[in-house]
Order: sequence, then C-alpha cells, then structure tokens
Amino acid sequence: MSATIKKNLCLYGAKLKALGVLSATDGNLSARLKNGRFLITPSGVSKSSLKPSDLIEIDSRGKVCSQTARLPSSEMSMHLEIFARCPQAQVVFHVHPPIATALSAALPELKELPSEFLSEVILATGRVPIVPYARPGTKDMGEALRPFLPECRLLILARHGALAWAESFEEALFGVERLEHSATIVKATLEIRASVESLKRHSKVLLENLPLAEIEFLKKKRKEIGNRLL
Ligand SMILES: [Zn+2]
Repeated sequence: MSATIKKNLCLYGAKLKALGVLSATDGNLSARLKNGRFLITPSGVSKSSLKPSDLIEIDSRGKVCSQTARLPSSEMSMHLEIFARCPQAQVVFHVHPPIATALSAALPELKELPSEFLSEVILATGRVPIVPYARPGTKDMGEALRPFLPECRLLILARHGALAWAESFEEALFGVERLEHSATIVKATLEIRASVESLKRHSKVLLENLPLAEIEFLKKKRKEIGNRLL
C-alpha cells in the first residue's frame, strides 16, 4: 500500500514538473497513509527525479518518523492543515503555476479566480479563492488556509502559487491542470479585450482579411480536400 503511494508521489511529481507548474526544486506533494501518518516530499529535490526512498514519513504534528538524512518540505504546515481539516483529503499538491500566480500579483484586489464566465470552472471546480499572502515556509501559511477549508479543493496562494487537495492523485492533477488552464483563459480574455479596445480607440480594423483572390483560391482548394480535418 505505502509502496504504491510512494510510487505515485514520484510519478505525479514528474507529471507536475512536465506540466510546467514547477521550476527547479519548487513545490511539494504529500499523501495520507493508513496508519494516520503522511508521506511528504523532501526539501530541495527536483520533482522530476524523486525516488521512493527520498519520501519522508511524518506525523500530524510534522515530526519525522522515518530514518532519513533529508528534511521534509519547509511548506509542510499547509499540507498538515489540509489533512487535519479535510478528512476526505488523500493527496495534496503544492505547485507554482505561472499564470494563476501572475493573476494574483497583477490584480491584488481579486478575492478569487474570476471564473463565473467559464461554465467548466463553475461545474468542475467551484469557487477558487485567492488566499492572502503568508510568508513561505512559516506556520502562517497553514493558518491562512483555514477560512477556505474544507470547502475549496483548489486554492491560489497570492504571489506564491497554488494548492490542490483531492481524494486521488489523478483528481489532484486534473485540478492543477484546470486551474492553470482557466487562469490562462482569463489572461487571454483580458489581453484580447485590451487589444480590441485599443484598436477601436485608434479606429483600426480588428482583423485584416487576406486579398480576395487569395481567399477564393484557398476556398477552391478546400473544396477539393473535402470535409475532413487536416
Ligand atoms: Zn511554494
């Protein structure tokens, strides 16, 4: 059982790294064990090269219970806070997704991801709050999460990153994917709207068409190709 969890922590660490939501040795992953303790990734190790023997067993107060020379992640307090307040939480991922984090820095007045114009976010994740800034590696980080637990499984940490907790590794990964994807759509919407408004101010056409003859040529070609997608 714990061997499978260890394997999954390594596997999903590599998946998160490949997703582009972690740089260098950023981020940390943890999972609940049947014995009431937890496994957490060590400090200062890239999540793309984790080995099962790197993982550290801790108790609910953060005391290290396994024989290891490594230190557990300095951001352990967030993980323990979630496990304590969310009995359904089996897995916690902490990542640094660039766009979601940038939104929290660029729009400090935001209290949550502006998602009510995206049907998928309303259905798939519910509210995604932006947790006020707390200094990384301190106990304050765990305390800052309290008002949002256990209601929210996805949380943006202002000017820092994001957290996902879930009942399975896959659910947590999908949560991280959806969070950054939604933040990217928000960013694109804001950028496109700003560009359109600027073009309108300068009375410029929004999109310039190809020359008419070229359009006709391409349309004829398309007819020859048929209906299939290229
Ligand atoms: Zn962090």
